[in-house]
Amino acid sequence: MKDTDSDDVMVYRLGSGCDLADIEEGNIYQGKVQGFANFGMFVQINDRIKGLVHKTNMKGEHKERDSILVRVRQVRPNGNIDLEEVIIQVYQVQNVERKSTTVRIADLSQKIGRTVAIEGEIAQIKQTSGPTIFTIVDETGTQNAAAFVEAGVRAYPEAEMGHMVKVIGEVMTRNGQLQIEVDALSVLTDDEAVEVKARIEKALDARAEPEDIPLLVKSDVMENLRPEMRKIAKIIRKAVFTSQPIILRHHADADGICSAVAIEQAVISLIKESGGDFDADYYLFKRAPSKAPFYEIEDITRDLDFALKDHIRFGQKMPLILLTDNGSTEEDEPAYKVASVYDIELVVIDHHHPDATIDKYVRAHVNPYHVGGDFGITAGMLGTEVARLINPGVEPIIRHLPAVAGVGDRSEAPERALFLSLISDQYSESDCKDIALALDYEQFWLRFNDGREIVKDILNITGNTERHKKLVRLLVDGANTMIEDQMNASMPHVVPRVLENEAHLFLLDVEIHAHKFTFPPPGKTSGEVHDRLCKQNAGKPVVTIGFGPDFAVLRSRGVLMNIPVMVRELRNEIPGGGISGGGHLVVGSIKFVEGMRDVVLEALIKKIADAPLQKYH
Ligand code: MN
Repeated sequence: MKDTDSDDVMVYRLGSGCDLADIEEGNIYQGKVQGFANFGMFVQINDRIKGLVHKTNMKGEHKERDSILVRVRQVRPNGNIDLEEVIIQVYQVQNVERKSTTVRIADLSQKIGRTVAIEGEIAQIKQTSGPTIFTIVDETGTQNAAAFVEAGVRAYPEAEMGHMVKVIGEVMTRNGQLQIEVDALSVLTDDEAVEVKARIEKALDARAEPEDIPLLVKSDVMENLRPEMRKIAKIIRKAVFTSQPIILRHHADADGICSAVAIEQAVISLIKESGGDFDADYYLFKRAPSKAPFYEIEDITRDLDFALKDHIRFGQKMPLILLTDNGSTEEDEPAYKVASVYDIELVVIDHHHPDATIDKYVRAHVNPYHVGGDFGITAGMLGTEVARLINPGVEPIIRHLPAVAGVGDRSEAPERALFLSLISDQYSESDCKDIALALDYEQFWLRFNDGREIVKDILNITGNTERHKKLVRLLVDGANTMIEDQMNASMPHVVPRVLENEAHLFLLDVEIHAHKFTFPPPGKTSGEVHDRLCKQNAGKPVVTIGFGPDFAVLRSRGVLMNIPVMVRELRNEIPGGGISGGGHLVVGSIKFVEGMRDVVLEALIKKIADAPLQKYH
């Protein structure tokens, strides 16, 4: 090397992260001979970029891997680079490092056909029979990147889920979806990873923050619940933005379905907006009804089983579990304990009387009892407000769900009327009643299935109002016929009693005086019996108990009971009763062992007889 001075020519050394965008025509680069063709030789400028020196532009004899200097004559529109060899003795070398800034995932649709770099976290790694699909999440969206080494062979095995990576590749469309064809994928070093992760976290946190929108109706209780509703909405939005699967478990009645469907609509549309696979809304979101009015061990066992298999088989993250119209009582605790072994995140939207014992298991819990309200603010009302916070765009298709839920759950809170008047131009109260009954009836036949699309028609979410009306009419007629049959069989066997507090108690053995394993099931049968008895005994306090061999269902009007507390007391007072249960204050159920039925029922009735009556004016 000779001495250098300020007039010397500049030669560039292209860093490994650089791509075509970093190449400038006219500049001289260090290169390495890669191979020969009869029309010239190929020269690599870095691991990913090579150009052609036509034989007319060659200055000497070379062999493979020789270092040479080349000037870029032209970068053609198709990405081919024309080079010429240069021979100079005196020059300065300057490194070119990733001048190409990384592209944000949200901007990729404008980069089709271009080679880009993205940085983000690996949210999923799926090995197909062809390429390995990495799902990358940055602060703006989700993108699949396909890396291929050999059919069915895992590409970049050093890159694992949760790693921060830089991906360089061409943006393509595949089956109408954007995809990056990976040229290079590198796991960021510790320092880089920390910096990128912090940047993405901060931006995601801001992006997950729900919009500040007013409630659909004026409600002090719900206003007080807004901070917690926002918290849940943010957790859910973040799960969507980071491709974390969501499992939504809900009570299998009209209220529970309304709350869950409202959130389902918000989440699904958000998943679609934020990119990813065309079927991401199916594998990243699952809605499942729980048969019991709580999260059973059976439920968590199924959820956990599927989550772990998806984790291993499809490289998915462990899910966020959201419970609605469910989840706030100590009956949920055994399931929560199972979830906590796997560090599964849980959030709850419920209006059952909450037990503080579950607080340590859940990250957030919206419940009117926490702010001085009660079950009259139903899960469907709360779920719809949370859904609007998750994605305000879905409001037009879900704004009638709180009214259906309020009617379905027999809410007596002032909010019921407010939600009904909100939609009175489209749905009457009796329409809402029909929809709620249709939901209950259809869920009976759906059993453990969510019936995503059928339920959308029942709730008139698909927009095919003609079909919605036909379907609801059919289901309501079917339900009413079966309820009528059941009442004809059951009502003559109701046994009345007047208690010491002058409450009118009615007992029905649903095991022998009702059709079994069909609609309406024992709980609803008891409810229908109760409704008829309330009409027959207008103005009087009425309690109805429908019992089977090892369970009883309670409904009451005008008697101030606290069923969860009564169940707990009975459990302590009757050893060997095998007692469990709960529910709302005045609507609930109790389980016991068959051999202790009479003892338990008599003790229960005694407690009802001690309960104060509601004052009528
Ligand atoms: Mn409910």
